Amino acid sequence: MLDVSVRAGILRLLQRLVHDGEMAMVFITHDLSIVASVCDELAVMYRGRFVEHGPVAEVLRRPLHPYTRALIAAVPVPDPSVTPVPLPAKLLAGGAVPHRGCRFAPRCDFAIAACEASEPGLEDVVPEHRAACLRVREISL
Ligand code: SF4
Repeated sequence: MLDVSVRAGILRLLQRLVHDGEMAMVFITHDLSIVASVCDELAVMYRGRFVEHGPVAEVLRRPLHPYTRALIAAVPVPDPSVTPVPLPAKLLAGGAVPHRGCRFAPRCDFAIAACEASEPGLEDVVPEHRAACLRVREISL
């Protein structure tokens, strides 16, 4: 783990290189609190599959997939007056990847029988914003 000031310096350098047009970058992180300042697009991966993709501001403002929502809910808020929302026990329990169906189903509060039948692929839900969830239009729009 890098010191906060060293990390900030590295992120500034990466931003400058990208915005000066000197390079493109794929930035892989578990820290969603910094992606908005570094990235133009955000792709969320769960156990080897992309479950959501879109412009970074749009995905952070309106997450469509239940896993993306959980990741965003887990970002600490640096304000002692804000009470963190507890994550669902089912989500924290983890579990093995199922042999069929949506691989997030064992941890998903919205799972129904159809989710265990086939694995959803990424589909456009709104322009430029894709998610891999059978129920995305019911639970997110
Ligand atoms: S397809 Fe079903 S189990 Fe998978 S994320 Fe969507 S609602 Fe949850």
